[in-house]
Amino acid sequence: MICLGIESTAHTFGAGIVDSEGKVLANVIRSFSTEEGGMIPVKVAEHHIKVVDEAIMTALDDAKVALKDIDLVSFSQGPGMGHCLRIGAMAARSLAVLHGKPLVGVNHCIAHLEIGGAVTQAKDPVLLYASGANTQIIAYDGGRYRIFGETLDMGVGNFLDSFARHVGLGFPGGPKVAALAEKGEKLIPLPYVVKGMDVSFGGILTNIKQKHDSGRFGLEDLCYSVQETVFAMLTEVAERAMAHCGKDELVLGGGVACNNRLKEMARIMCEDRGARCFVPENRLLVDNAAMIAWLGIVEHQAGVSTNVAEASIRPYERTDDVEVTWR
Ligand code: AMP
Ligand code: MG
Repeated sequence: MICLGIESTAHTFGAGIVDSEGKVLANVIRSFSTEEGGMIPVKVAEHHIKVVDEAIMTALDDAKVALKDIDLVSFSQGPGMGHCLRIGAMAARSLAVLHGKPLVGVNHCIAHLEIGGAVTQAKDPVLLYASGANTQIIAYDGGRYRIFGETLDMGVGNFLDSFARHVGLGFPGGPKVAALAEKGEKLIPLPYVVKGMDVSFGGILTNIKQKHDSGRFGLEDLCYSVQETVFAMLTEVAERAMAHCGKDELVLGGGVACNNRLKEMARIMCEDRGARCFVPENRLLVDNAAMIAWLGIVEHQAGVSTNVAEASIRPYERTDDVEVTWR
């Protein structure tokens, strides 16, 4: 069985094709970026509309299949930005109806987790999901993927992007902050905000903007310090979730997990507690449609299907809203 998945929760429009063995046949990623400003919803939606056809055709070409060979269509139903979700949902519904294919709407956050299981040896991991809009520590317990800790305000990626925008680095800012951080040397004390199992970035953002604007600190040192601080926060709550759940596997997901320093911290933490750390390749960490296609297959094989009439978007769907029937 092969599934065509469509992703469009935020900045990325993706078309991915995966088979039932978990083999990625195509993973086309078309991301919105800008030199100035951030993600303005209508602008991002315009970007997605422009790339829909090309992305899907390229995915079919890459996988060397035709639409008639596709057995199933899946799409990110939520959570995400309404403007953006609508484009992917419309494309998926159209393909399913026009070509008579079954349709599965999936949860984007759970897709980040399940792809980790498909491409690594992780069996029952804790997921540290660090992306633009989302930052959650997720693990399976009692029929659902439970959120053991999360951000109380913005996602860690949006935090890095906002800081980067403030200092004139453009969007996406995470990779640019990462490059500057490598040249930083001095650890500047910043607020360290872990509340129970949750984290918060708003106060750190205000603080670091003020530090930058004061002109008393070098940008490289600020980037270095911001990474050391917020990645330590994430690693701390991930470790506590592993201890609480008695799980000895960690999977990283989300675009911020492309960061080498975060990967390093997660590996060190796992080594210290005798656990295993799994990091999928970067193209499967960022928002992508291969993970959406894979979760489509997993759910379809468990008997899940989404009626076209019920395939509207779910911008606010939470990870633990979804009843997990496939485990
Ligand atoms: P996602 O929403 O999962 O696709 O992730 C996008 C986010 O990942 C954006 O906020 C980017 O700035 C961030 N990001 C991408 N690469 C890196 C990196 N190497 N270090 C830190 N953040 C990154
Ligand atoms: Mg994501």
